[in-house]
Amino acid sequence: MEEKSLKGKLIRYIYSHFPIIFINTFEEDKIDAIVSEILYDLSSDKEKYEAYEWNGTNGYIDFETKSQQSGEDTLESALEQLKMPDLLDHKIVILKDIAAYLEEPRIVSKIKGMARLISQGVDSTIIIVSTTVVIPSELEKFITILEMDYLNGQEIKDIIREFIEVNMIPSVSDKLIDELSVAFKGFTEFEINNLLALSCADDGMLTKKDLQLIFDQKQQMIKKAGILEMIPLNETIDDIGGLDNLKDWFVRKEKVFKNMGKAKEYGVDMPKGVLIAGVPGCGKSLNAKAAANLFEVPLLRLDMGRLMGKYVGESEGNLRKAISLAEAISPCVLWIDELEKAFAGIGSGSGGAAEVTTRLFGNFLTWMQEKESPTFVVATANDITKLPPELLRKGRFDEIFYVGLPSDEEREKIFTIHINKRRPQDLKKIDVTALVKASKGFSGADIEGVVKDAVESAFADDKKSIQTQDILDAINNTHSLSEIMKDALDKMAKEYESRKFKNASR
Ligand code: ATP
Repeated sequence: MEEKSLKGKLIRYIYSHFPIIFINTFEEDKIDAIVSEILYDLSSDKEKYEAYEWNGTNGYIDFETKSQQSGEDTLESALEQLKMPDLLDHKIVILKDIAAYLEEPRIVSKIKGMARLISQGVDSTIIIVSTTVVIPSELEKFITILEMDYLNGQEIKDIIREFIEVNMIPSVSDKLIDELSVAFKGFTEFEINNLLALSCADDGMLTKKDLQLIFDQKQQMIKKAGILEMIPLNETIDDIGGLDNLKDWFVRKEKVFKNMGKAKEYGVDMPKGVLIAGVPGCGKSLNAKAAANLFEVPLLRLDMGRLMGKYVGESEGNLRKAISLAEAISPCVLWIDELEKAFAGIGSGSGGAAEVTTRLFGNFLTWMQEKESPTFVVATANDITKLPPELLRKGRFDEIFYVGLPSDEEREKIFTIHINKRRPQDLKKIDVTALVKASKGFSGADIEGVVKDAVESAFADDKKSIQTQDILDAINNTHSLSEIMKDALDKMAKEYESRKFKNASR
């Protein structure tokens, strides 16, 4: 396993005198840990290797002691020092936060000078750690890009089995090892071993309850990365009133998703995902949550607004990171909320933001097209007219659904669900048919709102239970969605009809 890991690759590149290794990652701590190990390995014979680092916060420092190298705090002066062969020899030079500097010719030429010396035989390596891949053309032939790769399921299982053997842990079932290996996806070997040790610390055993610890740590990891958000799964498919076509579709995909091996063997494609478009407050987000619950996998929400960065290439880098993190954690549902916000403005002229958006969009399409990991995308959008047509073509999503205002029958179910959630004891006495009649044009969110209001005012009035009239009063005090946005809704409905999207309702 060693030679396949990042550390293994780095060692090989360092031994073979690759002048510049560019590591594209946001996990600087992990790289630091690997470099420390490598320094130790390299220095174990008679020679001593040292490492120097430059970063935006502390300037030029000794990698191990973190002590500042006085007088050389700018990147340029640090590089000026290092480009002397005697100083460079037996060194690993780690450069962080330098993406913006790679556009400055003076900096680039100094790095190039160092890279030349290394290729002429000076025993050294420059490691650039960056969240964005910025490669000046002058440095191209000296640079090798290394992506942090995540361990696959089999590699994780090997680590767990080794841990069990070495630490003589009492028997662990194959099923639990399978579950643990899925839970550990996205972690490094070092982290897995730490978490295994922590799991065994209390009772000396590995049990099902340890999965929760791993899950909590995973949530931390995702939080730290800052691009994806892990959403708790409180809603199930039974919390959705109506939308039966969409729900049936999810149930069919569930069968494939949970039996991926068998399905593939049978000739079924890996599900890619679904685009759910339509009226606000009618259950799009609810469906994303229910799908993850149904598939029994984590739900990761990608906020497209947060992806957009200041620097050239930063947004693409963020998208790549979000995708690789989701793939590392997969099987999972990746929920892309308000898709139209990210991709509005495509083709609306050249330069600046429009260009970034277009490139971002291209990257996203390619990923959707070629995706092989069990990362099921649920994209939701309110206004499909803002979405570029390429996205709606077959092959990107498995299906596109349109969610409209709920029908009479659907409103009945939605009322029942929400009354049952808050006042199950009152449900029998409530005339839901009357509520349905009075709530034409209401969205699911409107219905939830009136039930909530009615319950609150009944409580305030010290009533023992809520009555039909309480909810009718709340309905009369509410301006429904269709009242507020009538024209926009009509326009949207026509648009969806003309594009022949599948109706989420039956
Ligand atoms: P937006 O586009 O504004 O984000 P959305 O379509 O994603 O809206 P949701 O967030 O899913 O809407 O719905 C808002 C709330 O309304 C839900 O939390 C749920 O309580 C209620 N709701 C909406 N539709 C339904 C439904 N079909 N059945 C039950 N509850 C619903």
